[in-house]
Amino acid sequence: MSLVGRDLVSVLDFGREELERIFRTADSMQRFTRKCRSQLKNYVMATIFFEPSTRTRLSFETSMHRLGGSVIGFAESGVSSVAKGETLADTIRMVESYSDVIVLRHKVEGSARFAAEISGVPVLNGGDGSQHHPSQTLTDLFTIRKEFGEIDGRNILLMGDLQHTRSASSLAYGLGHYKAITLSLVSPPNLGMRPEVTDYLENRDVKYQEGQDPADFIGEADVIYVTRLQKERFPDPKKAEALKGSYILTRELLKRAPKHAIVMHHLPRIEEIPLEVDYTPNARYFQQAANGVPVRMAFLYLSVYHSKYHPVKQREPTLRSSDTRRCANSNCISNQPREPILPMLKEVMSKGERVLQCQYCGRYTKE
Ligand code: ASP
Repeated sequence: MSLVGRDLVSVLDFGREELERIFRTADSMQRFTRKCRSQLKNYVMATIFFEPSTRTRLSFETSMHRLGGSVIGFAESGVSSVAKGETLADTIRMVESYSDVIVLRHKVEGSARFAAEISGVPVLNGGDGSQHHPSQTLTDLFTIRKEFGEIDGRNILLMGDLQHTRSASSLAYGLGHYKAITLSLVSPPNLGMRPEVTDYLENRDVKYQEGQDPADFIGEADVIYVTRLQKERFPDPKKAEALKGSYILTRELLKRAPKHAIVMHHLPRIEEIPLEVDYTPNARYFQQAANGVPVRMAFLYLSVYHSKYHPVKQREPTLRSSDTRRCANSNCISNQPREPILPMLKEVMSKGERVLQCQYCGRYTKE
């Protein structure tokens, strides 16, 4: 399927062939990350970031500049009309008329899916809530592919706060496209991968194991992917404080990994990777962050070049009287009372039980 005009909401929306096409384009973009090209001359990208960001926003902006395009936007909600009470829907309706592509970061889960529904220009998800971060995942998969030649057959240790880290769940979704993956999910108690993600892995026949001590799994790992404790997503900050330092990839621990293993991190790292690891031949997190530019250049080029504005008829939400079910996640876009949106729930099976899965945030709700 053509990638022209496509949104980037979740890696689940792409097939393996499409991912490969993005990576091949990123391969060729690598030569141009320090030069200016002109394919996207006269195109405007809007970056609207309602949460802090360094890498995602700056690498998207660099990518657009390198392709000859221009950039508008804001990096915190306090400087936009959201501070005056504007809804996301109204913001998107404005910004789509000023730009050819929108990059959105938002703390509410499912906001990128909703924005893509009401926008006439492609919406690229720069991270929404703790669920999806597709441009990070494209960067991560590209990094693994570049290091090992292929992604199939890799043994990947994913460690840290797997419950709240969107880069981690998004990467798990991405790995579901590949064959013979072994995934070790290591986290402190109660911070494990959420059930909708492990159900997905089971449905895709991805072999995964769960544990609490990275030392049990590191000896087999090709990739050690460390994540940050996402303290801002803990309902009780004291609980995050109590977990500080509960997992650290020390140089000692790294010695137990195969020589060829690479260490990745979505960054920012706080204390989970000490500085001493930076000087080992295994560290790849800065290279990984650098790879964000050719990958984002590739997606922007494939999606935006020659894309047309498609006016979207305003959907008027009318609740079906028989359907009063709502998503149980209060941080889901479908539960934001001022947004013009209806809940969208689908029945699925989870561990032998029938549950409702929200089509915006992906979370389960018990019937
Ligand atoms: N920058 C990444 C994100 O926004 C990772 C992080 O914040 O830990 O998801």
